[in-house]
Amino acid sequence: MYCAEFQKQISNFTNNNLDIKEMDSFINHAKKCKDCYEELEINYMVNIGLEKIENDETASFDLKGELEKMVEYYENKSDLYYKYNMYKNIIMGVTYVSLFIVILMYVTNLFA
Ligand SMILES: [Zn+2]
Repeated sequence: MYCAEFQKQISNFTNNNLDIKEMDSFINHAKKCKDCYEELEINYMVNIGLEKIENDETASFDLKGELEKMVEYYENKSDLYYKYNMYKNIIMGVTYVSLFIVILMYVTNLFA
């Protein structure tokens, strides 16, 4: 993901409008690119901060920490997503190989 793309996605992130793939590249970029993370931080503080002032009287104002937690949360979530996908691919692979072996055995039996 490029910086320009990242900055376009910031509002989607704050509004929770990213799908898991977008979220993954978003978080990856945020972790790698200091400038974009700062941009995200400012944006997050302004957006969420304002919302909190208006709606939540018991609001905590550790927005920086909250954002960090959010990034960490999504980082773990996309980790899980990848593990799940990898696992799924392994299962699929094993299924195909066993299917192939069964067919092979069947065919060699036919001609034996
Ligand atoms: Zn960047």
